[in-house]
Amino acid sequence: MTADVRITGLRLTPLFLAFKQPYHWAGRVDHGSAVVLVEVETDAGITGTGESTASLAAEGTVAALRAVEPLFVGQPVHDVTRLCHEARHLGSFNHTPWHADFVLAGFEMALWDIIGKAAGQPVHRLLGGAVRDEVDYFGFVQGDTTEELVEDARGLAAAGYGVIYLKVGRGDAADVANTAAVREAIGGRRLRLDPNCAWSVPDAIRMIHRLEPFDIDWVEQPTTLLSVSAMRQVREAVNVPIAADQAVFTPADVYDICRQRAADAIVLSPHEAGGLLAFGRAAAIAEAAGVPVCLHGQGVSGLTDAAQHHLGLCTANLTEGNQIMHQLLREDIVATPDLTPVDGKIGAIAGPGIGVELDRDAVARAAERYAKGAAS
Ligand SMILES: [Mg+2]
Repeated sequence: MTADVRITGLRLTPLFLAFKQPYHWAGRVDHGSAVVLVEVETDAGITGTGESTASLAAEGTVAALRAVEPLFVGQPVHDVTRLCHEARHLGSFNHTPWHADFVLAGFEMALWDIIGKAAGQPVHRLLGGAVRDEVDYFGFVQGDTTEELVEDARGLAAAGYGVIYLKVGRGDAADVANTAAVREAIGGRRLRLDPNCAWSVPDAIRMIHRLEPFDIDWVEQPTTLLSVSAMRQVREAVNVPIAADQAVFTPADVYDICRQRAADAIVLSPHEAGGLLAFGRAAAIAEAAGVPVCLHGQGVSGLTDAAQHHLGLCTANLTEGNQIMHQLLREDIVATPDLTPVDGKIGAIAGPGIGVELDRDAVARAAERYAKGAAS
């Protein structure tokens, strides 16, 4: 019988992760992203690190975690399911389940980091074990103009990425020109398009018909996140596979998408699902329905990318061309290991826990950027 490792408190640090270059998508441009570094301290002297996404303001995420912190202090780190369930059902989270999942995911991620460190095992071995040696990631094309996108796409193809991913929903003429030019630049590689909910049902059907000649691997979330029926209507009217992204957060959403046969694949992150364990439950529902899942990336650091990588290693129904985001950052907060894909692939992270060493100077700089108001 081993002694419990108990939580003594949370250390919460708002960070602003600045992008290397302006990030263009569906009519919007972002320059970076706010997250909260969640460090869970224990009476065993082991600290776990996780990352919660913060969208507009990290203060909301910090306040929400502080509100539930008393539920965690003194509790065993291994009681992951109970702790997250109790926090999710506490007062203020009751009516905002999406917010709860995004907030709690960083805490849950840190618990797995502690459990792994205590056991001397990488997180993927705690979640069922690896079913593959490496995870395949897509080359994420960056730029504004067609020329910039083509140059970046050429570089990604030369770096060996098998799946290339391009944002659309940026105006019909630009979408057609960018897709045609990127298709030419990447040869026979798989090309995915993501309009991020930008299209109405008739616009989606019309645009996907126009883009179909460019041999599209899938179109991601063509229509509003609020309607599964809208996505199914598009899927039934086009000959290009459809992936659900923003319409799917929770295991219940996965069930709904699968039951309505509204998508050919599901794009999901542990932040959306509410943690690594919840991601696994969601993926299992999709697997039972014969639908593959793809790792999704919000504006996150290599810490989340590494945590998700463990899910990629141990999720049976995973697609190729998963998403990482740390490569878009001016500087990552992860010092080791090197998370740069080789031919689009990253091998197993040995751990223990999530298996990353943070660059504390980079963390301090990101915290300073947040404090100086970079996110506003
Ligand atoms: Mg997407």
